[in-house]
Amino acid sequence: MNIPANHPRRESLLIREKLVEGFKKGIVAPEGLIAHGRGECFDYLIGEKTQGFALKAIEAAAAALLLANHAVISVNGNVAALVPEHVVKLAEASGALIEVNLFYRTREREEAIKQFLLSHGAREVLGVGEDASATIPELFSERRRVSPRGILIADVVLVPLEDGDRTEALKRLGKYVITIDLNPLSRTARAADITIVDNVVRAMPLLVEKVSELKGEDRGFLKNIVSSYNNNEVLQEALRFITHRLLELASKDLKLHA
Ligand code: ATP
Ligand code: MG
Repeated sequence: MNIPANHPRRESLLIREKLVEGFKKGIVAPEGLIAHGRGECFDYLIGEKTQGFALKAIEAAAAALLLANHAVISVNGNVAALVPEHVVKLAEASGALIEVNLFYRTREREEAIKQFLLSHGAREVLGVGEDASATIPELFSERRRVSPRGILIADVVLVPLEDGDRTEALKRLGKYVITIDLNPLSRTARAADITIVDNVVRAMPLLVEKVSELKGEDRGFLKNIVSSYNNNEVLQEALRFITHRLLELASKDLKLHA
């Protein structure tokens, strides 16, 4: 698709193109396209920029990933299509493992995602085929399958763009859950220990950078970052930001003058 360089919604359209390409390659589920639309709506509300509340969460997430004994990055179709290289970089920088975890699991899609990540330099991708032999209690059918080498034994799990049921199930298993979710009101956003309210395409590169920056710090320093982080406050801050932004806009002349 040819999007003019000065198109006001260029970035957003390019991201859509990546998802449509991913859909054509069998990486993204049709439902994933709908989920993206919901995310876009919230991105509009936060001004399509990484805000302060997201930066706080990114710092805490980086520290938590570095402190983990066994961290896992859970990857679904949308995440693979949008930020494959940053999933690989984050795994490298933090020592986390990569696991495919799909809401709409099919053998073909999980394999396509694995191959896509391997082609972007991933060393190993868990949770595909026979490897997804363990189950998370309480979840239905294919949604509960995880890798016994990955999510099953993880202490910290990064689940960008995750469904609320599964996030709550991971919490009940005692995992420390980090998410990236543009909707500060989603069940995932509210159940997670750390919620990065930002677009995954902006948040993942910043998270990789933060992990690299904090890597040399001692554990005491990192623990202090995590223990002084308060997710409820961060979600409240995100909602206040949206509220104030909308009130400010509501006092302006909104008409576009061509
Ligand atoms: P929940 O199940 O947590 O209540 P939901 O049912 O509203 O959420 P899901 O489809 O289960 O939504 O989860 C997808 C989540 O990912 C949504 O909250 C959506 O806003 C968010 N999302 C979609 N695209 C992006 C993106 N590019 N970056 C960050 N978040 C996104
Ligand atoms: Mg859901």
